[in-house]
Amino acid sequence: MKFKGKRAWVTGASSGIGQAVARTLAAEGAEVVLSARRAERLEALADELKAAGAQIHVEPVDVADRAAMAAVGERLTALGGIDILINNAGTMPISPIINGRVDEWDQMIDVNIKGVLYAIHAVYSGMAERKRGHIVNISSIAARTTYPSAGVYAGTKHAVRAISETLRKEAIRFGVRVTDIQPGSVDTELPDSIGHDKIRGIVKSNMYGDEANMLKPEDIANAIVYALEQPVHVDVGELLIWPARQE
Ligand code: NDP
Repeated sequence: MKFKGKRAWVTGASSGIGQAVARTLAAEGAEVVLSARRAERLEALADELKAAGAQIHVEPVDVADRAAMAAVGERLTALGGIDILINNAGTMPISPIINGRVDEWDQMIDVNIKGVLYAIHAVYSGMAERKRGHIVNISSIAARTTYPSAGVYAGTKHAVRAISETLRKEAIRFGVRVTDIQPGSVDTELPDSIGHDKIRGIVKSNMYGDEANMLKPEDIANAIVYALEQPVHVDVGELLIWPARQE
C-alpha cells in the first residue's frame, strides 16, 4: 500500500491512461477523486474500485470550464486537500494547419493547456500551505518533437512541459514536487478525438497495426508510480517512455 493516507485527483479518469492510473493508485491505498466529462464511466469505475475496498469520489467536470474547475477545487479543499494531482485529461484532434480547423485548435488549447493550468490552480495553493504535494502533468513525446499535422497538439504539449519545468522550480520552496510524463504511443481512445477523417485513418493504421509497437496505459501508470514513490528529497522532473520499437 504505497499511497495509503494520500488523496489523489485524476483528471481524464474515464478512459485510457487516467483510468489505469486511478486503478493503480486505488490498489495502492490512495483515496482517489475521479474527473472527466463522461460521468457514467466515472461512476462505473468508482463502483469497481469501491467494491475492491477503495475510497473514491466522482467529480464530473469539463477541465476547460474555468468556473467549474474552481468549484471542484473548493470541494477538494473541503475534503481536506489533494496530495497527488494526475493532470492527465487531454485531446488530440490533429490536422494539417492549411486545413484551418480553428475550432479544434481552440479545443486543444483549452483542454490541454488551460485545463492543465486550472487543475494546478485548484490544488497548488493548498499543497503549498501544507508544504507537501506532487503534481504530475501528462505531456507527450510531442512535448519534445513534432511532426506534420501535429503542430497545435505538439504546441500544447510543449507548453505543458514548459509549465511543468517552471512550476517545479517555483514549487521547490513549498515542498511540492512536479513531474512531467512524456509517453510515446499508448493504446487508448485518443485517436478517436481526431476529427480529420484521413488523418485519423492514418494514425490508427500506423499506431494500431502493430500491437507490439504500442505502450499499454498500465505502462504509464507504472512510470507515474515510480515518480510518486521516490523519497521526498527526490523529484523525478520528467520521464520519457517509448514503446521499444517506436522511432
Ligand atoms: P483517452 O482519449 O483514452 O483519454 C482522454 C481522457 O481525457 C478521457 O478520460 C477524457 O474524458 C478526458 N478529457 C478529454 N477532454 C476533456 C475535457 N474537456 N474535460 C475533462 N476531461 C476531458 O486518451 P489517453 O488516455 O491516451 O490520454 C491521456 C493523456 O495522455 C492526454 O493528455 C494525452 O494527450 C496524453 N498522451 C497520450 C498518448 C497516447 O499515445 N495515447 C501519448 C502521449 C500523451 P471525457 O471524454 O469523459 O471527458
